Amino acid sequence: MREDRSVSPLRNPDAIRIRELEVYAWHGVFPEETKLGQKFYVNAALSVSTCAAGKADDLSLSVDYGRVCQEIHRFLTDHTYQLLEAAAEHLACHLLLTFAGIHALELEIRKPAAPIPLPVGSVSVCITRGWRRAVISCGSNLGEKEAYLREAMDKIAHDMKCRLVRSADFIVTAPYGGVEQDDFVNGAFLLETLYDPQELLTFLNRLEAEAGRERKIHWGPRTLDLDIIFYEDSVIRTDRLTIPHPDMQNREFVLRPLMQIVPEWVHPVYGKTVAGIWESMTGSHGI
Ligand code: ADP
Ligand code: MG
Repeated sequence: MREDRSVSPLRNPDAIRIRELEVYAWHGVFPEETKLGQKFYVNAALSVSTCAAGKADDLSLSVDYGRVCQEIHRFLTDHTYQLLEAAAEHLACHLLLTFAGIHALELEIRKPAAPIPLPVGSVSVCITRGWRRAVISCGSNLGEKEAYLREAMDKIAHDMKCRLVRSADFIVTAPYGGVEQDDFVNGAFLLETLYDPQELLTFLNRLEAEAGRERKIHWGPRTLDLDIIFYEDSVIRTDRLTIPHPDMQNREFVLRPLMQIVPEWVHPVYGKTVAGIWESMTGSHGI
């Protein structure tokens, strides 16, 4: 498991900036662009914790910007995309996966000779991507309950786009929602992920399906249930996804593991910490 970071990656103010890296490459919608190629310029602001490297004057504690430049150059010349959006999206993901020290980045790809029949200086696409924090709650009440949860945790930890930061102890809890069924084993994880919320749900649904989960009765028995409780401070309400999880404040089996791993996480709708919500529910300060 990865070591915890006290500073949230997105709030880390240190940066390494790369300006106007020139790359001759073959991205574009028009055939002449992919045949002849043209110049692109890349600007990047890498969110990196520079403190340790700065104090020790040691490159191995930072991100080597020379290598980052080489990697940007190599990636943009090895691949061909129609859109600058696609080039930026894939390059950002590649850099975040290649350099563990980059928490987030702002990336701009500029095309000074874009085929526009007007006197335009240049066009560019600028995106911000990074490792996002998410809290997942898990439960099982069929078969080898703990084994299902451990397997899910393993798969999450080994997925390229997820890093397991912290996990709660598993607890045994009585069923919830009025359906007569076996006791549950519950837990929770804190992750960093490159998936957006919808992609994360799709990934978790896949793990549920791989554990043989069948959706027969609402709140009924299940081999594996994985719910997204928080995703950064996002508030999302779509048909498929509600974040924060709409019932978390009523579920002791969700809050107890959360108290262990993220007691200070602030619920973005209620403006209360997990510990505050726990206190409202149980009347006690700790678990
Ligand atoms: P529950 O977790 O409440 O027992 P299910 O696991 O059967 O119920 O989930 C039902 C649906 O809830 C899923 O198909 C999913 O699309 C939706 N859903 C909405 N918000 C979330 C969330 N935050 N995490 C997981 N699933 C969610
Ligand atoms: Mg669920």
